[in-house]
Amino acid sequence: MATELLCSPPSALFRHCPSCAAPRRAEADAVRFICDACGFVYYYNVAVSASCVVVAPDGLVLFIRRAREPGKDKLALPGGFVDRGETAEHAAMREVREETGVTLLVVDFLGSFPNLYAYRGVEYPVIDLFFRSRVEGRAAIPLEDVTEVVWAAPHLLQDCDLAFPSHVQALHELQRRGV
Ligand SMILES: [Zn+2]
Repeated sequence: MATELLCSPPSALFRHCPSCAAPRRAEADAVRFICDACGFVYYYNVAVSASCVVVAPDGLVLFIRRAREPGKDKLALPGGFVDRGETAEHAAMREVREETGVTLLVVDFLGSFPNLYAYRGVEYPVIDLFFRSRVEGRAAIPLEDVTEVVWAAPHLLQDCDLAFPSHVQALHELQRRGV
């Protein structure tokens, strides 16, 4: 996890204007880059991800074991970043299908929790949107960026088993509402 410790927010990494290449003069602004030379403005917007709590008839929840950093070898709810022009619902269903082969017909919104996603030296601010869905059986296979699929009772997992605190929060919200 040493690479994650070296991650910086985007604001600290923009040292030159992406438009005119002038050096950044002012102190780094965490919200936006403003170029004193040409007036170029760039907002460090929060990225959006969509994940899904997939519940089997026996109450077990579908987790994936991550094949890559961040959170390599830890468990996570299947999910990923929302593409441009895509709805969050579609992104959640697409990511579940791409990572586990499971096709969902409908998802309900569960809640949202902020996250920091450390990737190749950049600490991206993300809002993680969580949905939930039920499936008829426990057919799932490890596919894209996944080493294993695990059906587990959320209350039997330790927080440290999961790759992201936001996923722990989503599971707490699930239990608060009742599966
Ligand atoms: Zn500029």
